[in-house]
Amino acid sequence: KRYVLAIDGPAGSGKSTVSKLVAKKLDGFVYLDTGAMYRMITYKCLENNIQVEEIEKIKKILEETNFDIKEDKFFLDNKDVSFDIRTKEVTSNVSKYAAVKIIREKLVDIQRKISEGKKIVIDGRDIGTVVFPDAELKIFLVASPEERANRRVKDYESKGIKADYNETLKEIIKRDKLDSEREESPLKKAEDAIELDTSKLTIDEVVEKILSYMKI
Ligand code: C5P
Repeated sequence: KRYVLAIDGPAGSGKSTVSKLVAKKLDGFVYLDTGAMYRMITYKCLENNIQVEEIEKIKKILEETNFDIKEDKFFLDNKDVSFDIRTKEVTSNVSKYAAVKIIREKLVDIQRKISEGKKIVIDGRDIGTVVFPDAELKIFLVASPEERANRRVKDYESKGIKADYNETLKEIIKRDKLDSEREESPLKKAEDAIELDTSKLTIDEVVEKILSYMKI
């Protein structure tokens, strides 16, 4: 039987770390990182020098591109782009492309198809509000911008990317603003989502709390 666990929240709130662990702890659950999908299309547009205004070109890219996800690896037309989609360039441009209506329509469509009939933990910005308004459980993760910037810096460093704290903090605040103020599916808590502030919780504590809400 289907079970959708929707985990939304701003950048650096711990969504992907927590979602992965929750999926791992539960029998038969898979994990889908929807942010990575927006990063993939952003990467492809940047590579091809396509601006957000060039709707026809974006449409063509969306039709021609093969998006593939195998476990925690991401493939664009069979090329592994798992590393390329996490660069600062993609990170600072992704919100702009994620605000494009046809991009969202296409990716939401793929997300629903991937999830069909599955037990799935799916993280993003609009999962509980738009992609699965009927999700079995909705969690909205939040944390202070400073804490989120700290986590991002550590995250970058673990990937061998140098990151400045102040620059990262600015980037996070800018991305939150763009994601929450856009017209298309803005980042916001679904009315029936449980809000969890992760600022002062360990990863394990967040995972345990979510598992206890699932009652399965
Ligand atoms: O989660 P992550 O930081 O990788 O997401 C990258 C960007 O993709 C977000 O800042 C947001 O602009 C966009 N996104 C979105 N809707 C989702 C997931 C991500 O608009 N469901």
